[in-house]
Amino acid sequence: MKALTFLAKRFVAGEHQEKAVDAVKHLNAENIHATLDILGENVSNEEEAVNASEGYLRLLDGIASEKIDSHVSLKLTQMGLDISNDFCFQTLEKIVTRAAQYNNFVRIDMEGSEYTQRTLDIYHRLFQNHKNVGIVIQAYLRRTEDDIRRLGSLKAPVRICKGAYKESPNIAFQRMDDIRRNFKLMAEILWKEGSHVAMATHDDQLIDWTLEYTAKENIPREQYEFQMLYGLRRKRARELAKAGHHVRLYVPYGTHWFPYFYRRLRERKENVFFVLKSLVAD
Ligand code: FAD
Repeated sequence: MKALTFLAKRFVAGEHQEKAVDAVKHLNAENIHATLDILGENVSNEEEAVNASEGYLRLLDGIASEKIDSHVSLKLTQMGLDISNDFCFQTLEKIVTRAAQYNNFVRIDMEGSEYTQRTLDIYHRLFQNHKNVGIVIQAYLRRTEDDIRRLGSLKAPVRICKGAYKESPNIAFQRMDDIRRNFKLMAEILWKEGSHVAMATHDDQLIDWTLEYTAKENIPREQYEFQMLYGLRRKRARELAKAGHHVRLYVPYGTHWFPYFYRRLRERKENVFFVLKSLVAD
């Protein structure tokens, strides 16, 4: 695929780092922070994982030299999780160490449930010696409360999202009301423990609840932020930033954009409507 199609362009910042950096400069000008993601997942050999990690090292150098305000987000299957936990840990540690040199921060995305435990194991191992790394927890998983309690006890920084993968009812809530209820409960637990919480959602019900709850409970703005995906709910993101809230957009880029785009559209039928609606509703 040589060029991004019209639709994908709205959700992916470009194929190369320069374009992504430009996109972040525009966001920063509106007081919106970013987390840059180099698209890619499920690499099958060490060479591919090393290439992916070198991309992140260059990205961290670029963020520093361009003086843009952006963290990085990555997936462990892109760093060799399918090869071995130890290999993946070592690859990841290099990135987290480089980020620390720049006082920057790495967020580990959460993938399908076959990876949840191993992702958390690697995260906990890393967090012992590196505090500039955060994790993602999916509110649709039934196991989430136990995971959150452990993370909260460490004051680990957590991004909460609903979860983007198709999971079975045995392990995951299917009803939106249950997922939202769990999302809120997870945030409450983490705030009580003193963790930083990134509320990653485009859902007005959860955004409005966050605004009300944080005001009522006097949760300082340093303890939470709103996160949205690049290209979605642009108006709402700007409004929140203008009102003084921390807002961070997840900005994906790279040549492996098709699976990300395809997943948003195809993996769950709800996302097709979500994306189509975003095109008109903004
Ligand atoms: P949805 O559940 O899609 O929508 C719920 C409701 O929100 C809608 O019914 C509507 O009321 C409202 N709404 C949504 N869009 C609009 C609009 N444009 N206009 C008006 N109302 C609207 N998933 C993972 O599994 N792992 C990850 O690591 C991960 N990281 C993420 C990082 C970020 C920053 C974000 C934002 C999402 C991430 N996700 C991740 C995806 C996430 O799990 C969800 O699949 C995705 O965000 C859709 O859920 P939602 O809460 O945003 O809204």
